[in-house]
Amino acid sequence: MVDLKSQYLKLKTDLDKAVLDCMASTAYINGPEVKRFQHQLEQFLGVKHVIPCANGTDALQIAMMALDLKMGDEVIVPAFTYVATAEVIALLKLVPVMVDVDPKTFNITAETLEKAITNRTKAIVPVHLFGQTADMEAILAIAQKYNLFVIEDNAQAIGADYTFAHGKSQKAGTIGDFGCTSFFPSKNLGCYGDGGALMTNNDVLAARARSIANHGQSQQYFHEETGVNSRLDSLQAAILNVKLPHLNQFNQARRAAADFYDAAFESIDDLQTPIRTQNSTHVFHQYTLQVRGGQKQRAALQQHLKNQGIPAMIYYPLPLYRQKAFANYWDGRTLRVTEKLCNTVISLPIHTEMNTDILNYIATQVTSFFD
Ligand SMILES: *Cc1c(COP(=O)(O)O)cnc(C)c1O
Repeated sequence: MVDLKSQYLKLKTDLDKAVLDCMASTAYINGPEVKRFQHQLEQFLGVKHVIPCANGTDALQIAMMALDLKMGDEVIVPAFTYVATAEVIALLKLVPVMVDVDPKTFNITAETLEKAITNRTKAIVPVHLFGQTADMEAILAIAQKYNLFVIEDNAQAIGADYTFAHGKSQKAGTIGDFGCTSFFPSKNLGCYGDGGALMTNNDVLAARARSIANHGQSQQYFHEETGVNSRLDSLQAAILNVKLPHLNQFNQARRAAADFYDAAFESIDDLQTPIRTQNSTHVFHQYTLQVRGGQKQRAALQQHLKNQGIPAMIYYPLPLYRQKAFANYWDGRTLRVTEKLCNTVISLPIHTEMNTDILNYIATQVTSFFD
């Protein structure tokens, strides 16, 4: 699905030097590379504060702790997402409320979320799924109307631009009270292990999140609250410092691959290609098709591709509410679009090192299946 080896070889000289220098420096925890990455990412995103942490799941947890969400508070999440989004909510004894998504963007909308608001709702977690920003302007309006916090799960859309109606653009992840992201190796900006970060423009929230990520202390050995230990390793920061200047180019390469696929599949009636919205750039963390024939046709396509040596993955096969882990939060009602997507989506390989030969081969194999 991704080609991390070719990307590494392209940047090998710089990456090897950064890692070796960091090892020689012995500043393995909170070293200068971490501060440098923080500032570099703040500048890239145009956000006041970046708080590096150990992974994207921790970033979400720290955001919810910093917002003082309390046992029983309801947090609205899409039912069609990766488990991490809702996992931390349950872990903190908050209540994940799962809502349906838009059939075109796969993201929550103002309409789907407003219906789920109760007097216990405290926060919304829009997930910018597969690399495209949710409709933040409409979501912010609802959040304001009901006095709710907004935590963007930006693990899949780092570098995407969201444009407001009046023309101003902001980077995905810098729009809500907090944005959370992951540097898992296969993400659009990946390190060589685990890594993550929170983003915020709010000074008070930034200080609180930074303290929580560091055992609840703002001064060493003086602990104001119960926190966690969640740090970005200096070695991972050194790798990210080399890779971040290439992020726009990485995302552009993904978009070019998506353009190629779009053109190749345009005339296949049985496939729906990804739909790009006007108000967000798409950074194609995944290139996700919908197979109109449903589960059976999709399984046959996946097998056909596998036989030709092409991996294709189902993100995601099960709505969150059907996951056994969340059985306690499910009243048995199903969500129409989420159910349909789980039965029809399939993602093709997409990464920064796709070339015409690879794209042609994959496109030909997909097309031949439908001939
Ligand atoms: C990857 C991912 C996460 C979690 O990130 P980790 O660094 O693996 O903890 C959270 N949400 C979404 C949507 C993701 O894709």
